[in-house]
Amino acid sequence: MSYCVKCGVELDDSAVKCPLCDTAVYLPDAAPAQSADSPFSQKR
Ligand SMILES: [Zn+2]
Repeated sequence: MSYCVKCGVELDDSAVKCPLCDTAVYLPDAAPAQSADSPFSQKR
């Protein structure tokens, strides 16, 4: 379980953004996904 760094709400492990304040979830284990070739950075 992780928490939003901004508003402190509990987040699912699969959450990538806070549902309340839309802040990106801080994941210490995740490398910065700046690369365009990441399979997890699909946006519509
Ligand atoms: Zn938040």
